Amino acid sequence: MTTNASLQARKEKVIAVGQGNLAPVYVERAENAEMWDVEGNRYIDFAAGIAVNNTGHSHPKVIEAVKAQLDKFSHTCVMVTPYEPAVALAEKLVAAAPGDSEKKAIYVTTGAEAVENCVKIARSHTGRPGVIAFNGGFHGRTNLTMGLTGKVVPYKASFGPFPAGIFHAPYPNEYHGVSIKDSLKALNMLFTCDIEPSQVAAIIIEPVQGEGGFYQAPAEFVQELRKICDQHGIMLIADEIQTGFARTGKMFATEYTGVEPDLMTMAKGIAGGFPLAAVVGKSEVMDSAPAGGLGGTYAGAPMACAAALAVLEIIEEDKLADRALEIGGHMNQRLSALKEQFPQQIGTVRNLGAMIAMELVQEGDSEQPNPELTKALVAEASKRGLILLSCGIRGNVIRFLPALTTPLAIIDEGMDILAGLMADLAK
Ligand code: PMP
Repeated sequence: MTTNASLQARKEKVIAVGQGNLAPVYVERAENAEMWDVEGNRYIDFAAGIAVNNTGHSHPKVIEAVKAQLDKFSHTCVMVTPYEPAVALAEKLVAAAPGDSEKKAIYVTTGAEAVENCVKIARSHTGRPGVIAFNGGFHGRTNLTMGLTGKVVPYKASFGPFPAGIFHAPYPNEYHGVSIKDSLKALNMLFTCDIEPSQVAAIIIEPVQGEGGFYQAPAEFVQELRKICDQHGIMLIADEIQTGFARTGKMFATEYTGVEPDLMTMAKGIAGGFPLAAVVGKSEVMDSAPAGGLGGTYAGAPMACAAALAVLEIIEEDKLADRALEIGGHMNQRLSALKEQFPQQIGTVRNLGAMIAMELVQEGDSEQPNPELTKALVAEASKRGLILLSCGIRGNVIRFLPALTTPLAIIDEGMDILAGLMADLAK
């Protein structure tokens, strides 16, 4: 029989350490919020492929749409001879993006590429080099996006040097004592000490930091950034790669701030697991880059566009933004009850829709992170049939990203496993 252990041994011989895997669980089949491995073990999936399968695994409508497209053709390159689904999808994406300005889109293949292209477009539009990002932010693993990322291990350590012209400001974080005022003051210091605002092309921010720890930027802060950008002609980029497509209870998390970004990224939840990403932005900004300057061979691949069109339909028909709020509220309640039981270990519980987090500490102290317990929970959870993810610049946050189609009974089953894990591991 093929076992997880035998596959892991084969994997380790041929796939480099850098592309590590969270658990030696080799998936054979997956349906909605459940997965089964090669040994027949069942798992509840609280990771959804890192916020990709918002519509669950193997949604019948997505499969049907992709199969229908596959029967027609699989690739021509949208930059050579395009096809209707790419246009239809762009129409829907520009309509869904926050704000009233006329917008346009471009397709790429991965989240990192979407971020890179935002920077390219912002530079092309402004004629300026500088970019400001935030501590704890994650924007990708390519050279430019690594430079923008604000977490050293494991994303930047040993991989430098990074591109010039990138600066970091603190992300406001009430739980860790960084106020909105502190962040704005530090941003001003950047303008005083490091780069004049007239040389800054863009400020890039995740409305809720993903890999950085599921911290939400207060609406007031994003509104202030909008003002600063307007004052200095800087492009505001919202990186919605992890927060997008109904995950936070709105189509995009920026909607909570009332701010319209100049450019935004879309990826992950856009296409139910098919590699697709996009940049959407104000038309006059998007059109700054010359023809042929943006894109890629697989950008807007036909099957990915077909999948994305199905995903958008499902989000609307099944009211997945509302389900994100329902799931998030329910999990927050369950986690808050667990926090009562383990006040020393669970420092705080937070959620914006179905981006839900539990921060693990020692002695109930926010400044004493507990990455050991975090690691142990994630490792043991997979042995008990639950797929959990961690995150956080301190490595002490468990993040919960269930599919937005997960029945509450399965959420509860997963939370029961977590409660059992805490009882056994939180000492
Ligand atoms: N930005 C954010 C906010 C992300 O969460 C991620 C992926 N975790 C990326 C960028 C990079 O996306 P990809 O892995 O598809 O390149």
